Amino acid sequence: MKTFQTPQGELRVEVFGHASVMFEFQGKRIYVDPWSEVCSFEGKAPADLILITHNHYDHYDEKAFGPVQTPRTTFIVSQNVGRVDDRYTVLANDEVCTWQGIEVAAVESYNIKRRNPSGELFHPRGVGNGYLLNFSGFMVYLAGDTEPVPEMQELPRVDLAFLPKNLPYTMTDEEFIKAANLIKPKYLYAYHFFGIDVPALKKELDPSIELLN
Ligand code: ZN
Ligand code: ZN
Repeated sequence: MKTFQTPQGELRVEVFGHASVMFEFQGKRIYVDPWSEVCSFEGKAPADLILITHNHYDHYDEKAFGPVQTPRTTFIVSQNVGRVDDRYTVLANDEVCTWQGIEVAAVESYNIKRRNPSGELFHPRGVGNGYLLNFSGFMVYLAGDTEPVPEMQELPRVDLAFLPKNLPYTMTDEEFIKAANLIKPKYLYAYHFFGIDVPALKKELDPSIELLN
């Protein structure tokens, strides 16, 4: 568990592995893309909000969120997950909602060139979400499964970023570094990786960025 200071209290962050992350802020608990293959969520504290970036099994996993969801849990999901029941809110790219004082913006997250053997992009444009979360002015960016897309140039200031790094689905190390140096978050996690060479990444990252892996 890592703690960050926001203008209105602490933000606690737990990184479970792959794309699974949890935030605690002002007594509320937010799980992002919980996946049962990196962590058992049995016995974990209940979720107030569950954010899902897209419909792949390693992001939308009922076995993972089953144990932490309650009848009062809100889900904010992408278009390719859709509205499963009344607790679900679907955000399209560029849509924003405010949940319990936390602004949640859906941003673009897609492949430009990486395709499966049948020629389809692993992550087609427009149906999956990255998220930009505003914790009282402390900005968190979760990129989702994406390549370095041009929309990253339009992101506002980011305090904490999660960027994916694995082939063939997301970014190479070089692309990861380029995206990070463009976004220039204060703090950075690589996520959704198969392997990571922290010293090699640190050497190439802008010195203002603190890599937390
Ligand atoms: Zn995916
Ligand atoms: Zn994935």
